Amino acid sequence: MFFKKNNSHFSDGSSAMVQEELVKLTKKLITYETIADKPAELKKCADFIEDYFKSLNKKYAAGLQIIRIVNNNKPSIIVTFHTTKNPILFLNGHFDVVHGDKAQFDPLQKEDKIIGRGAADMKAGVAIIMQLFLELCKKGIKPNIGAMLVSDEEKGSYDTTPHIVKKGYLPKFFITTESSDENIGYAAKGVIGVTVNIKGKPCHASMPWLGKDPVEMFLQDYAKLRKKIKNPVRPEFKRTMCLTVIKAGDSSNRIADSLFAKINIRTTSDSEQKKTVRLIREVFKDHEVNLTVESGVNNYRENPYLKELAESYQKVTGKRMQYMKDHGASDARFFARKKIPAVTFGPHGRDLHGTNEWVSISSMKTVYDVLYSMTRKM
Ligand SMILES: [Zn+2]
Repeated sequence: MFFKKNNSHFSDGSSAMVQEELVKLTKKLITYETIADKPAELKKCADFIEDYFKSLNKKYAAGLQIIRIVNNNKPSIIVTFHTTKNPILFLNGHFDVVHGDKAQFDPLQKEDKIIGRGAADMKAGVAIIMQLFLELCKKGIKPNIGAMLVSDEEKGSYDTTPHIVKKGYLPKFFITTESSDENIGYAAKGVIGVTVNIKGKPCHASMPWLGKDPVEMFLQDYAKLRKKIKNPVRPEFKRTMCLTVIKAGDSSNRIADSLFAKINIRTTSDSEQKKTVRLIREVFKDHEVNLTVESGVNNYRENPYLKELAESYQKVTGKRMQYMKDHGASDARFFARKKIPAVTFGPHGRDLHGTNEWVSISSMKTVYDVLYSMTRKM
């Protein structure tokens, strides 16, 4: 096992050492090719994480409660200092990543960057949480906090986080250390997935009056929807709609017998989401539509926990915390639904899911320092 050979990843707590350990840990985590269709890699990475926490108990008699939950072959590791499912804070990270080239799982370090698949999304975030627990254990501090590390976020977290929530693991405050450029991501869009099935009546394309064209029917309805939902051309926090899947027909001289389409809509508030659902039902009222609706995240910015995080940030960096709205979804949504303040706060990084994904090393250290300063008193 990685750290049974030597104990060199246990630093003396000095700032430079902590940063070095963060780098080492992030790189180690990147080497696991933790994509959805490699369950053996997910398991190996989960083993590594679980053993890391177990070694803290051995070395520091930390008394950490370490629980492994496996659901549908997807492992999650939950760790708390106290015997509780409801600590003040849960720090969340996911150790699964999206597909990448083989080379991306061999991390590179260049100046302030760690380059590799999942560097920013979010092996760095997971490393920050692990390192934080190490330092707290080492100092004998036992704050009422927990870590929740899951393995299917990139697939929507359906087999992990909601399952964990259902088991009653609910904190007073939730932070996922997803890359956020050191901002607080306090709001995130909701998602409406629309699946449309239209039955037609096929006929020869030379005599369309004999049939019923499902493609025409769909295009007319979709145009009505598009008239109401315009996509912004700049990165604005506005409602968006994309037609992501469309399938119909198999020959050029025959009207299709059916059409299948998927539309992905992102909304900015619960009321807008409700309105949009009504609009979709109205527009496609003559056809079979299935909707999956996921609410977004909308935190109250003045919430005391958000303020505490912002204050810790200011104390560590001397800069004011910036508030940000996320275009994408994170595990925060499962807790926001339970009315728990749930935010993203993580390091600076770029090209998430891209070929040159990287995370900033100094920014990792900043996020670590902020979380350390806040959690040690919890
Ligand atoms: Zn992520």
